[in-house]
Amino acid sequence: MDCIFCKIINKEVNSVVVHKDKTFIAFKDINPKAPVHILVIPRQHIPSINHLAEDDKVLIGGLILTAQKITEKLGIKNTGYKLAFNVGEGGGQVIEHLHLHILGGWETKEKMHKQKIP
Ligand code: 5GP
Ligand code: ZN
Repeated sequence: MDCIFCKIINKEVNSVVVHKDKTFIAFKDINPKAPVHILVIPRQHIPSINHLAEDDKVLIGGLILTAQKITEKLGIKNTGYKLAFNVGEGGGQVIEHLHLHILGGWETKEKMHKQKIP
């Protein structure tokens, strides 16, 4: 399958990995829109939030909890951050492999408001 994020999972494409476990991996966004910009993805190829079913409740909950753990590891848990899913073309989704954006690390609220997020 020609999916860049599956290629990152399979190490066919390089990335800066900040977390990995049996279900998820997380890596730095190549074109960061915040001082800290991480993408958390399931190893399973699910195209988007629109492709989730009832059976994926544990997976999607785990994805969010994994993001929370990563914010702690990267030192932005207590200063604050944004979590974002872009869904479909009209929602700005470019890569069709489910991913959760973690954005944070701004020094001030004003700097955060000035930065255009994905
Ligand atoms: P989307 O717009 O689909 O929600 O976000 C996709 C994100 O993936 C973008 O922020 C983009 O910078 C990032 N991205 C695209 N290709 C690559 C890549 O090859 N490596 C990494 N690390 N990030 C990528
Ligand atoms: Zn994929």
